[in-house]
This record gives sequence, structure tokens and C-alpha cells, in this order.
Amino acid sequence: MKTAYRTHTNGALRLTDVGAAVTLCGWIQRSRDLGGMTFVDLRDRYGITQLVFNMETDAALCGRIRELGRECVIQVDGKVLERSNKNPKLPTGDIEVEVTRLEVLNRSKTPPFTIEDNTDGGDELRMKYRYLDLRRACVRANMEMRHRLGIEIRNYMNTLGFMEVETPFLVKSTPEGARDFVVPSRMNEGEFYALPQSPQTLKQLLMVSGFDRYFQLVRCFRDEDLRADRQPEFTQLDCEMSFVTQEDVLSTFEGLIAHLFKKEKGIDIGPLPRMTWKEAMENYGSDKPDIRFDMRFKPLNAVLKQGVFGVLDQAEWIGAIAVPGAAEYTRKQLDELTDFVKRPQVGASGLMYIKCLPDGTFKSSIDKYYTPEQIQAAAAAAEAKAGDLVLILCGATRKTQVALGQLRLEMGSRLGLRDPQNYKLLWVVDFPLLEWDEEAQRFFAMHHPFTSPKPEDEALLESDPGAVRANAYDMVINGVEVGGGSIRIHDRDLQNRMFRALGFSDEEAQLQFGFLMGAFEYGAPPHGGIAFGFDRLCSLFGGAESIRDFIAFPKNNAGRDTMLDAPSTIAQAQLDELKIKTVK
Ligand code: ASP
Repeated sequence: MKTAYRTHTNGALRLTDVGAAVTLCGWIQRSRDLGGMTFVDLRDRYGITQLVFNMETDAALCGRIRELGRECVIQVDGKVLERSNKNPKLPTGDIEVEVTRLEVLNRSKTPPFTIEDNTDGGDELRMKYRYLDLRRACVRANMEMRHRLGIEIRNYMNTLGFMEVETPFLVKSTPEGARDFVVPSRMNEGEFYALPQSPQTLKQLLMVSGFDRYFQLVRCFRDEDLRADRQPEFTQLDCEMSFVTQEDVLSTFEGLIAHLFKKEKGIDIGPLPRMTWKEAMENYGSDKPDIRFDMRFKPLNAVLKQGVFGVLDQAEWIGAIAVPGAAEYTRKQLDELTDFVKRPQVGASGLMYIKCLPDGTFKSSIDKYYTPEQIQAAAAAAEAKAGDLVLILCGATRKTQVALGQLRLEMGSRLGLRDPQNYKLLWVVDFPLLEWDEEAQRFFAMHHPFTSPKPEDEALLESDPGAVRANAYDMVINGVEVGGGSIRIHDRDLQNRMFRALGFSDEEAQLQFGFLMGAFEYGAPPHGGIAFGFDRLCSLFGGAESIRDFIAFPKNNAGRDTMLDAPSTIAQAQLDELKIKTVK
């Protein structure tokens, strides 16, 4: 770290350096004027070193440092002393540097918020001055972790013989994904490139080229509505392998993730359990179940369809969760839960409950329809113990399972069962190949159109497309999908059948994906792969919800970069050159 400007960084000096003459550079984090002495915390990326300016030895120097405000950049010469008042919280807390020379390298305006972990700056302000936000140790630590994970990934992949290949950012717009970001082409009037939503087709073409183990830490672009865990541009660890089965892909990437957990967090994650998509939906109402806690669904159709309560008699599915120790929930708390399930995002029409009181009796919201024995039987079917609260939803099967899944997560949070540092991983496998869309009245690919059906289900592609299972898999950590992939179709005819199942005419398929199907005619090997959301992986390792804190320059919730003020209008001359007419 020694340069012409400094001998050490601000995180380097220890007791063993006492007596040394040093030169340090950095930002003034804070200064304390105690009359006879002025103490300054000098900060850089590596830490903080305490500087002492002594009035008795050099009054002029003391006068100069007192004039400088926070965030000025200075260079000092001085001598390392042992501190009488040690600070065990700082790695450099045993020493201080008595300053003999001060040079101001640059002055700073008073920053719009304090550059400390506990800052007074709100979100928007910190985004506008992100370069200052990145000076804060906690934000910097996130970026350092991201860097370490990236290096570990590259080394690990390289050891396994994976080759990093860059794929282009100016590509062709493809239907079937999210919305594309497009870029007008000046040289091809009226035509547009699209920014890649993922390098999916390109990495498959690399397999045709024989690059049988590919990876890339790559930026992807999707013009979707934003949420806390989404950004319009984000980074994937994108991978593809040839001559592999699903088993090969799963074991390779289970190895990678285990390696990252061991290296970064010192945790042995052990073999990942596997769950089929069907099991996940039936037990957790989600294709990314949070298995840090149990509360699995119990179907109550058999016990509650007794011809006594029309709502339940007519329901396609009745399901329950037993919430441990929540029998004492108050009226108000139960009303809150009812409001929760009735929110449009959850969409249930109401909530029923059975309190399994500690004295062995039951109190329920459906007491007037059922005998005490029937209520007891329902609680038993929900596998509730004395002290538990059984929460029941009913309605159309899939919709109700999803709603109960959200209620389950809410109860997990309320009970403190979702500790972000308790990592529970699993693979969800055997996704359906296709998903029916009511609005569009057609099937869509659940993963993407290049995913292969399970060979045993392939024959159903025309007769019962909804029943075909895919060779597709997701890795889930703590209820978050961190990665997903599939074994691909590598045969032109099967790819054509898939496009037909998606409602493409042969001409449309040829127009959109002719390049890929053409390549399949030149000896495409069997292949498959996976992509991980790298930002998301970083946020999980950091125990945080939002990926924004792990991206150096993220966009805000409206997709804006408030620091650069992007997006913005462009000059008329630029528009003219692109032959783009805007109507205001
Ligand atoms: N390209 C896919 C995605 O972005 C991942 C994969 O199938 O490898 O979700």
C-alpha cells in the first residue's frame, strides 16, 4: 500500500510500529478539540487511525487542523505512539500518530449527511450522493464482500475447468421473457438492438461451439416493475455445461455454493434437500419455500366437508397451518391476520381459526357450524398441539395454497422464525414445463422455451401440455430463489414442438429463433445449465433484504439513477441522427 503519498494505510499500524515515522493520507472522519490537544480520526478504505495534534509542541499546526471540517483530505507526517487510552474496538486502537506536518490535499464541503454507519441521511439523499454513501464502512463492507465472492467464484469455476466467455450486450429482442430495454441503431434506420435479459441463447450456442464448460459474471437487463429485490440491471453468475444430466448440474453448483458458504461464512451447509415443485406447492404454497420453519400445510377437506357449512362444502381446497404457541392470539391480532389475507396481494376472502387452548379445550370461528368433536378432529388433522393456533383458508386449490403460503411466511416472521443468518437451502425440481395464462389464453414456458421436457413426459406435449414436467430446477435459500436452470432442448424437432406448444407458428419460430434451431442442425451436444442472481446471493450472505445495498451504483424504486439523473432526454441532434421522432 506504500505509495509516494503514504507509508501505511489507516488500518495498518499496531503496537509493533510504535516509534516509527509514518506518512498517512485520508479523510477527516471527525475531530475533537480538547484545548491542549486535538484528536482526529483519519479514515480510508482500510480503517481509522487516531491522529494527535499537540498544542504544546506545535500551536500553529493545531490551529490549522482546527479549521478543517469533516471529509477534508489530508496528508500527515508523524510518529507512532502507544495510546494511554486504548480503544479495543479499533484494530489500530492501541496506537495513535502524533503529527509533525500537515498538508491539505483537498477541502470538502460539509457533506449532506454524516459519513458514519448510523447516518442521518435518508435513502434518496444517500442515493444522490452515492459516492459519499460508499465511504461509509458498512456500505463499503458490502462491496468488499461482493468482491470476495466474485473472486471465489472465478477461482472455483476455473479450477473445475469452466471458461469465462463474454457475450454481447447489443443483441436481438426476443419475445417470451420480460420486457426488453432497446437501443436504436444509427446505422440501421428504424432498427433496434435489445440489451440481453440473460445470455441464454448465446451460452447454448457456445455449447454448439464445443466450449463445454462456460461461465460468466454478467450484467443482465430487464424492464420490469421494480421491487426491493429487483433492479433493471443486475448481475448473474451464468453457467452452461455439455454432456451433463440434471444430476451433474445440481452436484456441480451445490459444490460451488457450499464452497462459498464455507469460505465467506465458515458454515457447512451439508447436502441440499430436494423437493418437487408439486410438494413445494402442496406443503408451502410456494415454489421457493422458506424451510427455516415448519408449519407445513395440512389439508382439511376430509374433516370439514360435513354438509354443515356451505362455504367449506363448496370449496375446492381447505388447508390449514398450525401456528405453535399462538392460541392466545387476541381478537385484535386475529383481525390483523384477517386483514392481511384479504389484501389484494394475498386475495383470500376470509380467515378461519381454531384456538387449541392450553387446557385442552377449543375455541373457533366456526363453532356454530361444527360439533366440538368435529372441531377437535380438524385440529388433530392440522396436527396442532395444545397452545397452537390453527389458521384455515379455503377456495380454489392453487390460489388458496399461494395465499396460505403468504400467511405462513407472515406467521414465521411474527414468531421470529426467519433469522436471516440461519441459512436453509434446498433444490426445487420437476417444475411444470408450461403454465396456462388465462388472460392470453395460451401456454407460456414456466422457465424459458429452451427447457427440455422430462423424456417420460415428452409424448404429452401435444395431448396434455399442462401435465408435462420439465428438467428444470431452482436453488432456494431462506425462501428466496437464488438460482435456476434446466437441461435444454438440443434437437431441432423437439424445439419446434415446444414452440408450437407455445402457440408459435413455424414461421414465427423461424423468424425469432432460427439462429438457434439452425445451430441445432450442426451437432448440438446435450447440454444444460443454471444462472444465479449474484446481487441477490450477496444480499443473502450479508443477511439483508435489498440487493441495492450490494450494488455500487443502484437505481431507485422508479428505475432512476438520481446521481447521474438518468434516464434523461437527449439532444434533438442525437434524435435526428437516430431518425427518431418524439411526440411531446
Ligand atoms: N437464463 C436463465 C435465466 O436467466 C437461467 C438458465 O436457464 O440458465 O433465468
